[in-house]
Amino acid sequence: MHQAPATGTHPSVEDADRRSAVAALFALASLSAMPTAATAAASPAAGTTPADLARFDNFKARKGIPMELKQVAPDLWFLYDDLSSNAAFLVTDDGVLVIDSRQHPQHGRELIAMIRKVTDKPIRWLVNTHAHGDHYYGNPAFRDIGATIIAHRDTVAGMVKNERLEFSRRQSFFRSQGLDPKEVRTVLPDVVFDTTLRIGSGQRVAEIFYWGPGQNPGDTMIWVPHAKAVFIGGPFARKNWSNMSFSPSIDGWIALLNKAAALPVDLFLPGHGDVSTREDVLDEARLLADVQAEVKKAIASGLTKEQIVKQLRFPQYADLRNYERIDVFLEALHHLFTTGRPLFPYP
Ligand SMILES: [Zn+2]
Repeated sequence: MHQAPATGTHPSVEDADRRSAVAALFALASLSAMPTAATAAASPAAGTTPADLARFDNFKARKGIPMELKQVAPDLWFLYDDLSSNAAFLVTDDGVLVIDSRQHPQHGRELIAMIRKVTDKPIRWLVNTHAHGDHYYGNPAFRDIGATIIAHRDTVAGMVKNERLEFSRRQSFFRSQGLDPKEVRTVLPDVVFDTTLRIGSGQRVAEIFYWGPGQNPGDTMIWVPHAKAVFIGGPFARKNWSNMSFSPSIDGWIALLNKAAALPVDLFLPGHGDVSTREDVLDEARLLADVQAEVKKAIASGLTKEQIVKQLRFPQYADLRNYERIDVFLEALHHLFTTGRPLFPYP
């Protein structure tokens, strides 16, 4: 049988949730100043020195596939944006639920304009699936129109902890697209959840759920049962090298993809890449298993980080999106397998 997320007893977003979310965010905000001070005294953590930050800002402008808004079910739309990141929205009886806000406030405003061409229902909710700026820097546009922004507790922690890293590593993208970096700011979610949350009523609902970390702590999936669709923002990107700097466990990531592939759905909507099939999800699990095995073997045979980066090239995956960033992904895996911690750990 399929291992579907539990259903039936989840609250809608209510005042109690909102109050606890605000309390949780205050706690996070007060903690966020501490790691910087602590790490400054020891050796600098990855991604904190200017040279390091420049190294992670490695977007290469390329000829992308033109952006396309696809209606994938009567009430569900998927925005496929090859050059940047994907988003989606579901029109429920109670209003519109948006999944991810894209990479810049301007992108957020464009997404709102696309929604407005489809429906005049209020845009009530936005879910941030994970703590990468290319998926949540459109948040200010949704804050401006009064949408309630929802994210997993650990996603919010990642947004707070990696605020500087995220902003720094997107500069070449902003430049290449003529987007003003000064407009970008971290707008934190209003509501945090821990396990599941249901939005909507009647036949048109979305199950927002967390199964543990895949690519990132906080990786959130949105299952739309009546559309037989699931949106997997962080852990799944079709025909793509996903960033491996945040995952605490590649085995955990692979297990999550296998579990997601067993959901009773036909449409797998990724954070990057086009509308996908179950086999596409399993392809990413296979890539991760292959890369993990090779890097672990290389470490066991005594190769240094530099030798691993130089020697392991994975030609069978060379035509996938983001392959040009393979060097930093291999470094990140070396770090994970030799220290037991991701390069950028949180919460
Ligand atoms: Zn992304």
